[in-house]
Amino acid sequence: MAVIGGGVVGTAVAFHLAALGKDVCLLERGDVASGASGSCDGYLFLLSKVPGPHLQLARESLRLHQELAASEGGSSLEFRQDGGMLVARSEEAWDGLKGLVQRQREYGIPVELLERDEALSRQPALSPRIRGAAFSTFNGQVNPVRLAHYLARQAEGMGARIMVRSEVLGVEHSPGTGYRLLLTGGRFLRARVLVNAAGAWADPVARLTGFRLPVIPRRGQVAVTEAVDPLLNTPMLEAGYLAVKFSAPGQSRSPGGVPPAARPAGIAFGVEQTAAGNLLIGSSREEAGFDRRTNPAVIGSILRNALEFLPSLNGLKIIRTYAGLRPRTPDGLPLLGPLPGRPDYFTAVGHEGDGVTLAPVTGRLLAEWIVFGEPSLAFPEFAPERFGGFGRA
Ligand SMILES: Cc1cc2nc3c(=O)[nH]c(=O)nc-3n(C[C@H](O)[C@H](O)[C@H](O)COP(=O)(O)OP(=O)(O)OC[C@H]3O[C@@H](n4cnc5c(N)ncnc54)[C@H](O)[C@@H]3O)c2cc1C
Repeated sequence: MAVIGGGVVGTAVAFHLAALGKDVCLLERGDVASGASGSCDGYLFLLSKVPGPHLQLARESLRLHQELAASEGGSSLEFRQDGGMLVARSEEAWDGLKGLVQRQREYGIPVELLERDEALSRQPALSPRIRGAAFSTFNGQVNPVRLAHYLARQAEGMGARIMVRSEVLGVEHSPGTGYRLLLTGGRFLRARVLVNAAGAWADPVARLTGFRLPVIPRRGQVAVTEAVDPLLNTPMLEAGYLAVKFSAPGQSRSPGGVPPAARPAGIAFGVEQTAAGNLLIGSSREEAGFDRRTNPAVIGSILRNALEFLPSLNGLKIIRTYAGLRPRTPDGLPLLGPLPGRPDYFTAVGHEGDGVTLAPVTGRLLAEWIVFGEPSLAFPEFAPERFGGFGRA
């Protein structure tokens, strides 16, 4: 079996396949975590998931994150479950947040609704000009680069081959013998089953087999401060984050019920503090093709917006910026499972801004699907065929 893509998702699939005793080879054209998984944040948020299957999937994944963190060597993942906050600045966002909290509770997620003073007592660095916040202990954070490397190492320890600097350049398929992959350096690899876990590059990788996948890159930019003493008690996102995540150009959709703030470049505030003390301040949502450069104008807007929520950022040094490409599908939800009519071609792509959170459950379900013919939890909502055919490339 071959998994294409060495981000959090591909390494999680390889890890679970190896754990089920399968002969698996992971192919990554750069290094492990050289795609979005190395240029993102590490929120494991349930508060930012759409109540319904998306939230259920994330809940199961958070449980698997806890298991990984508790396993031998898992402390290196910098996993913490200190909870998380969604912060509302306007009355309108606050009203929407109340609705979202209600729906989250219906799915069994414990969420507190905090009036301004309570929110400030939990998170003293917040601006006193906020309206209120939602807080839930069912949120955490992890170091995504460490997570991907850990899963790859563990998979290797169980017999998987992790082939970095191995780009898949061509794919031949025959129903009798399976796949023959052409790799950089003129090497070839044979595989009976192929898993496309190429993140934002899912469509170019699918085209090698003659199919199209409805996944496009969505750039997110982040600014990193110098390391400082603990400033945050929990990571935070602004309440309108969900609406920004699920809106597309020319379309305003707010599955969470909180309206988006009208800002350029799809900016929504988020901040977390890493184990080393750096603050990661984000982020944007831009359709800029495969361009992974940052842009001073967008970074400036991200920082101005962040100051409205967290005035104590003023005076901190920004030591670097980065941008990553989220894999976005038309409905913002992943494509998980075999392609119709191609039971030997699986997709584990399209996680948009949730891939770090959803990687463990994606890996487990995909591995079960491949090995047992069906996953232990069925999520038809994420079937790749929900957008119709796949069009020949
Ligand atoms: C700014 C930002 C912040 C984010 N914050 C969070 C967050 O807080 N929490 C969260 O859950 N998610 C977050 N995300 C989303 C998360 O980063 C992604 O959903 C996740 O990393 C996707 O993982 P992946 O393995 O699918 O893709 P990737 O990590 O992009 O991996 C795909 C890999 O495929 C490789 N590849 C492509 N083509 C080929 C080929 N032909 N041959 C071999 N290899 C190939 C690439 O080199 C790449 O390494 C954020 C994203 C961004 C950009």
